Amino acid sequence: MASDGHTRPFDVRSIRADFPILRRTVKGKPLVYLDNAATTQKPQAVIDALTAYYTGCNANVHRGIHTLADEATAAFEATREAARRFIGAASTDEVVFTRGTTESINLVAASWGREHLRQGDEIILSTLEHHSNIVPWQMVAEERGARIRVVPVDENGTFLYDEFLKLLSGRTRIVSIVHVSNALGVVQPVEDIIRAAHAVGARVLVDGAQSSVHLDIDVQRLDCDFFACSAHKIYGPTGVGILYAKRSLLATMAPYQGGGEMIREVRFSGTTYNDPPYRFEAGTPNIADVVAFRAAIEYVEAIGKPTIRAHEDTLLAEVSERIRRIPGVRILGDIPGRIGVLSFTVEGVHPQDIGILLDNQGVAVRTGHHCTQPLMHRFGIAGTTRASLAMYNTPEDMDIFATSLEKVVRMLS
Ligand code: PMP
Repeated sequence: MASDGHTRPFDVRSIRADFPILRRTVKGKPLVYLDNAATTQKPQAVIDALTAYYTGCNANVHRGIHTLADEATAAFEATREAARRFIGAASTDEVVFTRGTTESINLVAASWGREHLRQGDEIILSTLEHHSNIVPWQMVAEERGARIRVVPVDENGTFLYDEFLKLLSGRTRIVSIVHVSNALGVVQPVEDIIRAAHAVGARVLVDGAQSSVHLDIDVQRLDCDFFACSAHKIYGPTGVGILYAKRSLLATMAPYQGGGEMIREVRFSGTTYNDPPYRFEAGTPNIADVVAFRAAIEYVEAIGKPTIRAHEDTLLAEVSERIRRIPGVRILGDIPGRIGVLSFTVEGVHPQDIGILLDNQGVAVRTGHHCTQPLMHRFGIAGTTRASLAMYNTPEDMDIFATSLEKVVRMLS
């Protein structure tokens, strides 16, 4: 529901009309955009918010006493409130603006990790993780002498919860886990993971890069310690994301970067730091994109994620049914509850060839390892072809995609 309580009826035609890019053609064909897990397209409201900011009230935030600075600051902070509501945080003090999920995870690893990880401590990740939820932990683990333990997945990409419980111990300091896999669309049982991790005194970071656009998020109900997501995967601008962290944790975390805005007082004899969240927002932030992020949040809220999800689930179920029947095709993570993603291999055919031929039909998909090389390694493959859905996709999109794929596979195999 939108902040004004208004819910918009779901009509995919009128939604598509809000996304100007969907009117363009590719290689003379209507664009069928199925690379939404990489980034979503932007509605006119988001584009207008960017233009309105630069034409109407561009100024630096927090520091000025003039009218434009006040207006820019109010717009910037209004997004913090919208983001708080969007993830169900208790306070805007718990919402830090970052460049995106990657920076949010790096912030936690560099600040919380450096402070709390000691020789022999353990960090639990899973085979499903995106590189941005692996590499920052490897960097801090190496520096602090900590060890990374990895929860395996089965041949369907299912997170093996019993194996997770076996890895969990008094040495576990943090569990950092992807909520919805970008490579497969499978959903991890984060509620159970969080409860079990807390029982041994470990913290939990939830990588919400994919879940935040499809699932209603309530960080208080989840009781996660950290939650990271990116605006550009929620129909918002690139270059903006949020880190949610419990107030009690942020209060004790050291700054991630030094500079303006994050200080209280600077002397050459020593500096005192600002309170969270500003302590973690050094320098001039990405003001325009933060401001426009609010338009994206309100756009999604006005329709409602359960409504969007129902639409995407229907399309995904129907198209999966058809793709499964293509000879040589294997859908990875093909289990109930998969969200928004159809990731597949075709026997004897390189994913890149499929991607190029689909592009010739105007169909945009992603091919490769999807920044999840350990998962690809687990499956013994170099990569997949991935179609990923958004609210503006239609049954016609699915038909063009499936028909084009059938043709491509016939041609190549
Ligand atoms: N985690 C997951 C699961 C993702 O899908 C992505 C983006 N593909 C990231 C992290 C990184 O997000 P960003 O590139 O927006 O920082």
